[in-house]
Amino acid sequence: MSTNVTPKLRVAICGGGIGGLTLACALSREKDVTVDVYERAANFNTEIGAGMSIRHRNMPFLSALGLAEDIAAINGLPNETTGVVFSLYKANKAELKVISEVRPGAGVSAFVHRAKFHNILFRRVPQHVGMHCNKRLVSYLDSGGTDSPVRLNFADGTTATCDVLVGADGVKSAVRAAMYANLAGDTQDARKAEKLREAIPPRFSGAFVWRAIIPREKLTQIPADSSVWTSGKNYTGGGKALVTFPISQGHSLNVALQTFDYSLEDTSQPQPWVSEAQGEDLVPFLDGWADEPRKIVAGMSGLEVKKWVLNVVRPLDDWSIGRVTLLGDAAHGMVPFQGAGAGQAIEDATVLSALLTDRRVTCTNVQKALRVYCDVRLPIAMDIYNASHRSGQLMGDSSMSLEEIAAEYIKVGQGAWRRGSPEDDVQQALELFEKALAA
Ligand SMILES: Cc1cc2nc3c(=O)[nH]c(=O)nc-3n(C[C@H](O)[C@H](O)[C@H](O)COP(=O)(O)OP(=O)(O)OC[C@H]3O[C@@H](n4cnc5c(N)ncnc54)[C@H](O)[C@@H]3O)c2cc1C
Repeated sequence: MSTNVTPKLRVAICGGGIGGLTLACALSREKDVTVDVYERAANFNTEIGAGMSIRHRNMPFLSALGLAEDIAAINGLPNETTGVVFSLYKANKAELKVISEVRPGAGVSAFVHRAKFHNILFRRVPQHVGMHCNKRLVSYLDSGGTDSPVRLNFADGTTATCDVLVGADGVKSAVRAAMYANLAGDTQDARKAEKLREAIPPRFSGAFVWRAIIPREKLTQIPADSSVWTSGKNYTGGGKALVTFPISQGHSLNVALQTFDYSLEDTSQPQPWVSEAQGEDLVPFLDGWADEPRKIVAGMSGLEVKKWVLNVVRPLDDWSIGRVTLLGDAAHGMVPFQGAGAGQAIEDATVLSALLTDRRVTCTNVQKALRVYCDVRLPIAMDIYNASHRSGQLMGDSSMSLEEIAAEYIKVGQGAWRRGSPEDDVQQALELFEKALAA
């Protein structure tokens, strides 16, 4: 990457997913921080097609990056939504029964096609950011001193250097693997070393998800004025759940059918974790269910459906070691039952970019900034991680009544999200950084 200004900090981001690109966009606004993104894939258009929600709490930051209009253009929710935005139904009987409803203002701001959102981010990355494809990181070396840079080693035999390495390389993170292998190698305590090594591989969450995007014209059995096209739905019962929401201004429906086997939780499942499936094979899953969810699943017939074996990252005690830190799924890969993983990656980027672009940060004190980033973000992300986990357990529970499930689901969600804004977290991080500098 080239710039006429001598940089005060050279940041390397490993991974060009939603978290990595959000951080790149945010850091690129500061001219004396140079940014390079190293992506394993052959290009930046490899996001798997599926839907995701964006929460209100992430919109001020995304708007500050200039993304609000682009997000509105791909939003599945009507721009002037006044009705229900999300409903939880008891659905495993012939009749649908509303268990709870969420109205605007309480959480979701947009339902978007994940690949389109990723593309919006990619287009927003300015030209002065170095974007490198076919660069699979295999290891790094952080000597510990500030006199020599962090060295990155790629699978193609090339190397690069930086002052700060951010591992935004997803649930199978190579940066996390190298970081925790180093920590394990540094300790004399065999039990501690074993625990550190256990943090490296992702673990099965106990949940399977079949995901598809159904074009509106394939769902002729769903009336054009159905609320399916204007709000999100969670049809649940008997230990299964079908989550749907409209994307692309209501031209398509994002569908995720979830089943659970918690006897396999925390095991290691064989790869591939994402595989092709046949939509028609899913129809019997909802035998005896209400009409609406059955018609939706019938619409998956003949479509490209992906089966996901959902893996998570075991809770980590630390994300920042020396001049290396973790962000997004690499740090806190979680189950999607609060629709929160990408949002949490965006919140990581919100706090980390504020710290790294702070005028007081230099090459010599940047480790303090990374420590503060972890201290502020890790407990918040873990609250959301735990709430997502509990929500998944509730969806998969066939022993509780749906009323009990709904009551606890709402309580879990409210507990997790009743917190200050990401902007409050930035404020707290900058104050802690000031204290760390004074100490
Ligand atoms: C079924 C499902 C539904 C979901 N729904 C939602 C939702 O509604 N809302 C929400 O907020 N989140 C949702 N999520 C979660 C969300 O998709 C993830 O949390 C988010 O994409 C994580 O972004 P990331 O950038 O951290 O990681 P990723 O998107 O995984 O990106 C990592 C990038 O790093 C690259 N990479 C990997 N290894 C290397 C390497 N060694 N060297 C270089 N590059 C590398 C990868 O190719 C990839 O581009 C859902 C997830 C699933 C599975």
